[in-house]
Amino acid sequence: MKALVKAKSEKGLWMQDVPVPEIAPNEVLIEIERTAICGTDMHIYRWDEWAQNTVPVPMVVGHEYGGRVAAIGSTVTRVAVGDRVSGEGHVVGRRSRNARAGRFHLDPDTKGIGVNLPGAFAQYLALPEFNVIPLRSDFPLEIAAILDPLGNAVHTALAFDLVGEDVLITGAGPIGIMAAAVAERAGARRIVLTDINDWRLDFAKTLTTRTRMVNTTVENLRDVMDEIGMEEGFDVGLEMSGAQPAFDQMLDNMLMGGNIAMLGIPAKPFPVDFGKLVGKALTLRGIYGRQMYETWYKMLAMIDSGLDMNPLITHRFKATDFQKAFDLMETGKTGKVILDWTD
Ligand code: NAD
Ligand code: ZN
Repeated sequence: MKALVKAKSEKGLWMQDVPVPEIAPNEVLIEIERTAICGTDMHIYRWDEWAQNTVPVPMVVGHEYGGRVAAIGSTVTRVAVGDRVSGEGHVVGRRSRNARAGRFHLDPDTKGIGVNLPGAFAQYLALPEFNVIPLRSDFPLEIAAILDPLGNAVHTALAFDLVGEDVLITGAGPIGIMAAAVAERAGARRIVLTDINDWRLDFAKTLTTRTRMVNTTVENLRDVMDEIGMEEGFDVGLEMSGAQPAFDQMLDNMLMGGNIAMLGIPAKPFPVDFGKLVGKALTLRGIYGRQMYETWYKMLAMIDSGLDMNPLITHRFKATDFQKAFDLMETGKTGKVILDWTD
């Protein structure tokens, strides 16, 4: 089968022929139809410090997908051949305290498909039945392919109580934009979304109705807070850029006792002003992946009740044209970019 492989320890990805994965009795073989490119894939593509320390080479990459069940192992009961599915990309162990307590998203033995297990940028993916998410037969495959990052957005946005709160989201990448849309629906009061890229902030307007966009290289965040009637600081911060300047700005503008959920992965370690963190009595929570499987229930319910993520998809390519897609992703002028694996 065709698969996109991190074949060398250098920038790039390579389309190769690799064997179709064999499935164990508890696994499902998924025929991949659509995939989406994630910020994490860009870390791997660029081969930054995080990727070099995390991803063994060679590795089939990719973890955002929609497809159909092509075969099931002998003990699989929850899905049948032909079902439309997506899946949770974190494959957890069963031995740790967290896993035994049902906190699967906090299992330290977790492996990620497309990161340290063979991934979904391929014609077929083998996935444990436990990780497979069955979808209704008319569920759009492109939306199936972006459920993974929507799950990151939902899990981060709902990490703290948002209702009636003022929320600062740093980073208007696809996940930051989705988080703003979720915060609007979940009942936040004021929502401010920052970036340093005007294209992204303009684009974010197509998915939100009452979020204030701020390009922090042009506008002063404190002035914007005055303008929108904020006397104190933000109650909740959602860090979705992985950029130190964004995090520093968040620290400076939080209310005392505020809560920060951190999703962004820094490309390399950065220093934190702990004096401010302590002095403001802030709570900081790292967010990893999604809750298994509570986040999936919540986001599918939000989609069923009208959360429309279609406008987030800006570009579509055949999988064989992947290089064009990755070049475009590098311009930063994209929402979600879809690869089509059917042909
Ligand atoms: P993305 O790279 O598309 O978006 C990041 C955005 O941050 C970009 O638009 C960029 O212009 C912006 N940015 C850069 N510097 C900034 C600054 N100083 N102030 C404000 N914005 C700034 O990424 P994405 O796909 O939306 O994902 C968001 C982040 O979450 C990434 O770092 C990604 O690696 C990470 N992530 C983490 C998990 C997890 O489990 N923790 C899962 C998925 C993604
Ligand atoms: Zn992703």
